[in-house]
Amino acid sequence: MRFMMFEHNGSAHLGVVDGNHVIDMQACDANLPTTLHELIMGGADALSRLKAAFNNLPEGELLSLDDVTPALPIARPGKFICVGLNYAAHAREGGHEIPQYPSLFVRWPSSLVACGAPVILPQVSEQLDYEVELAIVIGKGGRHIPVSSALDHVFGYTLFNDVSVRDFQRKSNQWTPGKNFDGTGPLGPVVVTPEELPPGASGLRITSRVNGETRQDSNTADMIFSTEKIISILSEFMTLESGDVIATGTPSGVAHAMKPPGWMKDGDVVEVEIEEIGILSNPVALEK
Ligand code: MG
Repeated sequence: MRFMMFEHNGSAHLGVVDGNHVIDMQACDANLPTTLHELIMGGADALSRLKAAFNNLPEGELLSLDDVTPALPIARPGKFICVGLNYAAHAREGGHEIPQYPSLFVRWPSSLVACGAPVILPQVSEQLDYEVELAIVIGKGGRHIPVSSALDHVFGYTLFNDVSVRDFQRKSNQWTPGKNFDGTGPLGPVVVTPEELPPGASGLRITSRVNGETRQDSNTADMIFSTEKIISILSEFMTLESGDVIATGTPSGVAHAMKPPGWMKDGDVVEVEIEEIGILSNPVALEK
């Protein structure tokens, strides 16, 4: 299934995407969870109730995707963990060694923005960079999860653009400032459940474009640490919980490595895409 949160008539709704339409699940059954995060927290029982409602759809609940505004699929994840340097060519283009253990950092919800909302070019920097990433949404939580059963803990997969303010990222060895500017974390719009994708969402073409020009073009099979390995490694030191989001790193081709650097500017449009998941598109706007 393909889920999204969307704004319609002034409020947020949980929808199931079907082709060019979205079905407002609240309108089908007012007792269903009202957000994707609630649905995930509700486990197998909530999902089976939603599927039952979906299979008995009344007429006239379809909305055109053109008529709704995407919202963040998970507005306030309990944890938003990012893996850095997870594609060998990207590690090399930034002058880093190939990691033996993943580089990890965190994002706070204040940096996240929905599909279509502006990515904010801050007043204090010109070094605004894009990073297309596969994002994992955790379903069933857990600790000490073995690689062999790690995929059982995935609710679905979505798109993330790990927009980075490079000069602030490199002010110290800790990347927190450069990865947490307000309005620099596009996420969504759809969360695709695993049965629609190859295992671990591996083997999918992953690309980014600025104003239609391809900047990154790789494949999720090139990740150094796979979906299942990342889940296992993270759960070795902390409990993963339902609705946690994990961004899995970006391939080569970032603006920072171009000569001259191809930073994003006010008025640009940045798109990131993973085949079979979709496109996440955002305009860039200067901070007011
Ligand atoms: Mg990244």
